[in-house]
Amino acid sequence: MRKQILDILRSRMPQAVSGEELSRQLGVSRTAIWKHIQALKNEGYIIDSVVKRGYILRQIPDKLLPDEVEAKLQTKWLGRTIVYKDSLRSTNELAKQLAGEHCVNGMTVVAEEQVSGHGRLQRGWFSPYGHGCWVSVVLTPPFLPQEAAKCTLMAAVAVIQAINKYQGVHAVIKWPNDVLLNGKKMVGILTEMSAEFGKINYIVVGTGINVNVPKEMVPPELRATAVSLQDAAKEKVSRLQVLIDYLQNLETLYEIVLQEGFKPVFDLWRQYSGTLGQRVKVIAPDAVYCGLAEDIDNDGLLIVRKDDGSLEKVIAGDVSIRPAE
Ligand code: ADP
Repeated sequence: MRKQILDILRSRMPQAVSGEELSRQLGVSRTAIWKHIQALKNEGYIIDSVVKRGYILRQIPDKLLPDEVEAKLQTKWLGRTIVYKDSLRSTNELAKQLAGEHCVNGMTVVAEEQVSGHGRLQRGWFSPYGHGCWVSVVLTPPFLPQEAAKCTLMAAVAVIQAINKYQGVHAVIKWPNDVLLNGKKMVGILTEMSAEFGKINYIVVGTGINVNVPKEMVPPELRATAVSLQDAAKEKVSRLQVLIDYLQNLETLYEIVLQEGFKPVFDLWRQYSGTLGQRVKVIAPDAVYCGLAEDIDNDGLLIVRKDDGSLEKVIAGDVSIRPAE
């Protein structure tokens, strides 16, 4: 009911819709309509009640509310089940828990804030309330567990296509899991998996996109290395639009992968890569070396030509890549 009222008000914005019309169309009393309107106002919708004219939806809250996502999302299955939380520990954590209980392909967990968001190796991910897209998507691919890591590269392409459409934004992908703008980190991606021998139960692709995180809000230790989409776009960006574009791109890419494998996605990844052709420093648990990042292979591994001329394939997971001095 709430959703239907909202859909009608939204479609008539900025015109008024009378309580009588709503009650007639939806077959409930005007008091019931009034109660739903109050609930919407409590959620942050700005709705004016104008005598003799009715209700006017003035402003949609700057939140990633499922009703708002669904109103614009054009995917077939991805993001069609949305779990929305005001605040939680981590979207990946909740997505894994829910997928473990009842796995729905394309289920999406979105939060305004993560209080314990994390990147790889349990490194923290700063996720302030109402300023980013902190989102995790559950996928149940038919391919083998060893292919799961490629989903990180797929998600990176989906994000970059969603953010590079803003004027002045030319972000690049840093292998394997970050999106950088002017050398600073705008997006982190964390892919986690539940699998048995030879079979994936589910993959959770978590993405943290700094959309409108003001510089002064960023903790001092991250200020030199973190950046937000609004810094480059020079204005506040709609988080809702970024989320919707990301989900749509992800569905499109995933369907390409199911039909044709990862090659087309890797070709796109190469176009957006900020790592290939660069000298990099690879920091692995057992070795640190420098070399030229030449390409990614068919498994998404980074091929680095070391200074002695030998080739090394770098597996994501426990290495960090830094620009070489
Ligand atoms: P790495 O880039 O070292 O491989 P991860 O990809 O796992 O690490 O990301 C975690 C790191 O990202 C943290 O250790 C921190 O330095 C940095 N970080 C945390 N939150 C943010 C944020 N919102 N924006 C940019 N960088 C962040």
